[in-house]
Amino acid sequence: MSWKVSVEATAFNSGQFPPDGLPEIAMAGRSNVGKSTLVNAILGSKLAHVGSAPGKTRSVNFYLVDAGTVSFRLVDLPGYGYAERSKTEKKAWSQLTSSYVENRNSLVLVCHLADFRHGLLPNDRALQDWLSERGKPFIVLFTKADKISKGKRRSLLQQYVKDGLRSIDVPIVTSGEDRSGVSEARTFMENFLITAIR
Ligand code: GDP
Repeated sequence: MSWKVSVEATAFNSGQFPPDGLPEIAMAGRSNVGKSTLVNAILGSKLAHVGSAPGKTRSVNFYLVDAGTVSFRLVDLPGYGYAERSKTEKKAWSQLTSSYVENRNSLVLVCHLADFRHGLLPNDRALQDWLSERGKPFIVLFTKADKISKGKRRSLLQQYVKDGLRSIDVPIVTSGEDRSGVSEARTFMENFLITAIR
């Protein structure tokens, strides 16, 4: 079933977050991981700006989703780990992100995006540790799967899982480019929300 989506808020500071209300699923990942592309593919709409200059998105973007069976907010968090950022910018990133993640009662799930070619890099593991310490559940969504041939995807996923990857469910292998895994991600979100709000 198609989703009805709209932009609800673009927040550069926590005062601009909309009030807690509908359950929220947040999208987090390194800059350039393909987050905007995947957000657009999942929303079925080109609302998120796909960056030609990595690390430009510093806002928290709230999208309102009417998925038919459930309504929720998809929350696009700023990308992290962009090497050329100044210390001030990194601090601003962590303040905005932590003020969202730590204080948001409506946050029910974090989708942790990681490039399928690279698996989890040290700052991805740092994010997972940080989320775990705060008791926030997360599922891994791999991105840019189109860069790996179809025949190799299953064994690569198994390798990552064997290497001790953390995720509340089997990671979903996606590509915003060829749309693989996108409907799976949408279905996962809907089912998760239906269970979470029961
Ligand atoms: P973000 O910084 O994480 O929001 O990443 P973007 O969505 O802006 O994408 C960063 C770059 O990766 C852009 O050049 C995109 O065209 C490219 N990209 C994003 N998703 C995919 C994908 O699924 N497959 C491939 N091959 N490239 C992608």
